[in-house]
Amino acid sequence: MIAFENSYARLPERLFVRLEPSEPLAPRLIRLNLALAERLGIDADTLSSETGVAMLAGAAAPKGTEPLAMAYAGHQFGNWVPQLGDGRAMLLGEIIAPDGARFDLHLKGSGRTPFSRGGDGKAVLGAVLREYIVSEAMAALDIPTTRALSVVTTGEIVMRDNPEPGAVLARVAASHIRVGTFQYLYARKDTEGLQALLDHVITRHYPEATKAEIPALAVLDLVMARQAELVAAWMSVGFIHGVMNTDNMAISGETIDYGPCAFMDNYDSLKVFSSIDHQGRYAFVNQPRIAHWNLAQFAQAMLPLIAADEETAVKLAQAQLDRFESLFVAAYNRRFCAKIGVKADEAAAEAVATLLALMEQDEVDFTLAFRRLTSGLDVDDFAPLSAMFKDTAALAGWLDGWQNIRGDTDAALALMKAANPVYIARNHRVEQAINAAYQGDFSVFETLLTVLEKPFADREAFAAFETPPRPEERVCMTFCGT
Ligand code: AMP
Ligand code: MG
Repeated sequence: MIAFENSYARLPERLFVRLEPSEPLAPRLIRLNLALAERLGIDADTLSSETGVAMLAGAAAPKGTEPLAMAYAGHQFGNWVPQLGDGRAMLLGEIIAPDGARFDLHLKGSGRTPFSRGGDGKAVLGAVLREYIVSEAMAALDIPTTRALSVVTTGEIVMRDNPEPGAVLARVAASHIRVGTFQYLYARKDTEGLQALLDHVITRHYPEATKAEIPALAVLDLVMARQAELVAAWMSVGFIHGVMNTDNMAISGETIDYGPCAFMDNYDSLKVFSSIDHQGRYAFVNQPRIAHWNLAQFAQAMLPLIAADEETAVKLAQAQLDRFESLFVAAYNRRFCAKIGVKADEAAAEAVATLLALMEQDEVDFTLAFRRLTSGLDVDDFAPLSAMFKDTAALAGWLDGWQNIRGDTDAALALMKAANPVYIARNHRVEQAINAAYQGDFSVFETLLTVLEKPFADREAFAAFETPPRPEERVCMTFCGT
């Protein structure tokens, strides 16, 4: 038995719709995240029992759960959509971990809801495996993220471009409250609802805002700080979220919605993976700008809570928002300077920019280059790094300059080893795992998870996972997988 709480279900009813579990299916448990189950204080045997698996498939709602679909709105690719919501997902309830932390247990792919619009409410196995792999890789990199508790296939065939196996991902998150949840209420001029939602968010994520003179402004500040850190963290590992719509930005500061996301191989500041992002709105280098834009939407939705007089509220919010850039730049510089083993300062930031420009020009693999810079310093041999560049003279010049600004070797190495992962969830590896799973072989998926569990620990047996794809293995696009 799992003890659920349902604080979200105590919010005004216009924020959600209650759901019944779907019709019985033929669910099969493909993967259970034992470490996460332990973190949550849930017994793994309970989850893998017949009733546990039915719950994880969305086909049973055990006592204590109050299944519901959350309502939200959002800007998708800049366009306002007043009504989104969980169209293929349900919130089962909240779990209080042994340390007192509260987590949502949410099912993605669990069937139609009143928010499904034209969709079928289903998820396909490939998209579910992708989210499992990438979100768990993110967690192992110590970057705030929703987690994956399980993968269950439903026994159904779901029609997309091709018929595909249906699956459900159990997603665990600090909460599923989005910028779009606030926008949903703001667009309906529902100030009372906004206040209730803000109070909930403060209790849940930002208790320190209670003491502030204007709690809404304090929350804006705290959310902004977490987003600045988050996007800097993504970029430091070459991650492209791919669909940073306001409904896909969590108020908690966790990475949410692993649709068309990917880690880039060669460094390309304009890299886009998403098949639907034709304008490059969510390209690698645009991510901080978009985060800022989304935060402006968040601030706007909270205007009625910031001050009664709109003009005053706008002024206060704007002053806060103007700080985003410096917050982001500080986080970015701290992380990227650590990648070259240096404390952030102007000279170090310039060295980073020069190195990235060289990598971009020579189409050098981002993760492997930082890795070889690290091992190069370790064994005093930069030939393997140099071999990755076309303009080796420029690299040699850069290395000379770097040797002058970096201090003590041991200190630099410690910074670099902690900032430069050996293994990332490379897109071609993710695709290989999915393709094998579609042939009924989940071992490739399992091995990849084992590799990514310890991204900073160099392991001889997994050397092949360090390297970029061969040209024929390259995956240039990812799909939303809806
Ligand atoms: P996303 O692109 O995953 O952020 O989803 C955007 C919106 O589309 C959300 O409201 C989803 O619930 C909804 N949606 C996505 N896929 C489906 C589907 N297969 N059935 C119903 N709704 C969906
Ligand atoms: Mg979404």
